[in-house]
Amino acid sequence: MNGMMRGKASSARRLVGVIAALALVAAGAGAALAARGLTGAQIAASPAHEWLSYGRDYGEQRFSPLTGVNADTVGQLGLAWHADLDTARGQEATPLVHKGVLYVSTAWSMVKAYDAATGAPLWAYDPHVPRETLARACCDAVNRGVALYGGKVFVATLDGRLIALKASTGAVAWSVRAVPNTRDYTITGAPRIVKGRVVIGEGGAEYRARGYLAAYDAQTGKRVWTFYTVPGNPQRGFESRALAAAAKTWAGNWWTLGGGGTVWDAITYDPRTNLILFGTGNAEPWNPAPMGRKGDNLYTSSIVAVNADTGAYAWHFQETPEDRWDFDSNAQITVADVVIDGQTRHVAMHAPKNGHVYVLDVKTGQFLSARPFVPVNWASAIDPVSGRPAINPAARYERTGKPWLSAPGAIGAHSWQPQSYSQATGYLYIPANIAAFPYVAAAGWKPSAIGFQTGVDAAATAMPANVVVREGAKAATTGALIAWDVAHQRQAWRVDQPSPWNGGVLSTAGNLVFQGNAEGNFVAYSADQGKLLWSFPTQTGVIAAPMTYAIKGQQYVAVLAGWGGVWDVAAGVLAKKGAAARNISRLLVFRLGADGRLPPPPSPARMVLDPPPPFGTVQQIAHGAGLYARYCSACHGDAAIAGDLNPDLRHSGMIGSAQALRLVVLGGQLHQLGMVSFKSVLTASDAEAVRAYLVHRAIEDKALESKVATR
Ligand code: CA
Repeated sequence: MNGMMRGKASSARRLVGVIAALALVAAGAGAALAARGLTGAQIAASPAHEWLSYGRDYGEQRFSPLTGVNADTVGQLGLAWHADLDTARGQEATPLVHKGVLYVSTAWSMVKAYDAATGAPLWAYDPHVPRETLARACCDAVNRGVALYGGKVFVATLDGRLIALKASTGAVAWSVRAVPNTRDYTITGAPRIVKGRVVIGEGGAEYRARGYLAAYDAQTGKRVWTFYTVPGNPQRGFESRALAAAAKTWAGNWWTLGGGGTVWDAITYDPRTNLILFGTGNAEPWNPAPMGRKGDNLYTSSIVAVNADTGAYAWHFQETPEDRWDFDSNAQITVADVVIDGQTRHVAMHAPKNGHVYVLDVKTGQFLSARPFVPVNWASAIDPVSGRPAINPAARYERTGKPWLSAPGAIGAHSWQPQSYSQATGYLYIPANIAAFPYVAAAGWKPSAIGFQTGVDAAATAMPANVVVREGAKAATTGALIAWDVAHQRQAWRVDQPSPWNGGVLSTAGNLVFQGNAEGNFVAYSADQGKLLWSFPTQTGVIAAPMTYAIKGQQYVAVLAGWGGVWDVAAGVLAKKGAAARNISRLLVFRLGADGRLPPPPSPARMVLDPPPPFGTVQQIAHGAGLYARYCSACHGDAAIAGDLNPDLRHSGMIGSAQALRLVVLGGQLHQLGMVSFKSVLTASDAEAVRAYLVHRAIEDKALESKVATR
């Protein structure tokens, strides 16, 4: 009997072995097909059942022709499979699907490949980004996606490498450094494929960065061309006539800090005009005064078009001249044919941080129109012919010397969260933020060796420990999903949301719009009216954009869940406004008739403030507040109130010990977790002042909590 059992067991093992071998053969066959390679023509054709590029098609419309899941059937949509991710930071990527394989990047620039129908993991790749990189990443360890081409998967890493992986195995084919140094630059964006080349930019305009877009040979990784977005040191001459022209719009010694204008997200290739359109970031530092920065500062906060073969300048349109508000123009650029005043126009649609929807002619860059999609106070009007804003004089805070509460604020009316344009409705679906931000020019500001280079006084504008002020700020800070009628430049419908920083958008020919949100729901609305049709609890805030694909006629909808990004790490008390402002990182995949369930979420830890006794003089605490605001708040949160991802220092045991804090802040004891040494800018007495401030803040908030509790 034992022998029989053994025989059965071993034949069962053999059967498993045979099935595994068959699966390997099947995977191998798929791999061989993949190795032959995806072509640019296939990407341009954007077949309905696949999702081959970040924005799905070259126009980056994120509109799927699939109709299996539609306004009538979406009620039957259920969880088909899910994959837990091995990182717990913001998830911003859009997955790609080709030949039945789903490829996705996660936080820390890792890449995963799954069987798109079953969720079976095929391979995983970890570029081992040094965790210290976090200290110069303004906005969390995020990555927004991979590119596919010629049997390879391309990912750009947080520490500035561009890496090609074999699509079949995840093995590294080549790796090149795509940034000038690893001190100031990061990459979070998704590469795009243009005519056999990989195109990618970089982030870093809050540090010391000079923006550029570059194209690399997809076979070898060799850089083919570079377009700088801001002029360098005039003493050295300019790389092109376009940069010589741009230099006339600058003053002072901008180049010593790099100038900004980084290309950290939007890259759109238009085959019809053979142009690459891309968005540029803020001029730096934010406050123009310290570096003597004057003028429009081209080509910052602009859309720029270059020849796809050579990278040569074609045209530019600056959305925010003389930027001093961090109004990056990096939001995704969507290209489509739109009938405007009875005429079909080939247009670029853009809804950047500055709060207006712009419509431009793709070929010439001609300004067609702009309208605000949220409340705007920094500009009183947009010139109907030139598109130039009339800047509110009070918004030039470095000239007035007064605080300026700007709408929109530094988070932007719309950031990287992808928009979607529906060919069926003619609506552009914009994930909008209604979030003001206070700016005060820092007195006597100078660049520093480490940290944010903004020139604003973040201590002066830190959220006070005052219930009325905090509740007022929370009430005024919201979000909205806005359906925008592009042809008529007006809102068609909107869904108001309690918190800003909601997810990117997908629209489909099934009259659907999908979006995840900060409340922890993945929601489907009717595309024509914004009617709520379906919702799934995700247990965590969703900031990434959904995508959809079909296998054997079965439509799937996929989205990365996992709260994070700049709003979590920097927004202080406001970062926690969304009901699901905590990170549980997962890939969620849905199909009709599926009834999968997520494991129950861990119950949120209740954090009780337990500060040590106060110490330090008023001057010492104020000194610590200034240092905290300049060097610590970008990661640990405004007014020492952290989001979900980084340690909340009011709760840290370290604030009870001068030595413990010094070992971390100056000694770099936790550098492997991303907390680098700040000894280049802080002394031991500075560190002690920061500690006095943190203890002070913890005591303030403990008193506030007990006051709220007894009300
Ligand atoms: Ca910026």
